[in-house]
Amino acid sequence: MAKPSNISDTRFDGAAIWAGLTPEYQAKIGAYALEAAIARGISEHAGGPAERAAIQAVTEAHDMLQEAVLGDGGLNDRQWIDGGERFRIPSVIGLVCQSCGCSHDDPCEEGCGWATETTCTACAT
Ligand SMILES: [Zn+2]
Ligand SMILES: [Zn+2]
Repeated sequence: MAKPSNISDTRFDGAAIWAGLTPEYQAKIGAYALEAAIARGISEHAGGPAERAAIQAVTEAHDMLQEAVLGDGGLNDRQWIDGGERFRIPSVIGLVCQSCGCSHDDPCEEGCGWATETTCTACAT
């Protein structure tokens, strides 16, 4: 049966959280997110000095994005950690096994499917 998990029953719904942010805060986060995405795109498509600079830009944009989201003035911890101190995994991942953390694009080594919406077949037995 399912073991205790640090994965919450509810997901972090980025779209819902975003809708509740002030325009100023959205502008700050949006700018960092765009820069992170563009930097990663350049790092994957360019060689030479552009690749090197873009790899560093990925790191710095992600650091600034994380500070804006999790630092002072950022989201309340309860928006991503539930009352039982379990983490709300971002919704982009879809179903997640609460026992092992596997998901559709990261299945268990031996292969697995869904026994329930919160437990994979590898963990159900
Ligand atoms: Zn599992
Ligand atoms: Zn699994």
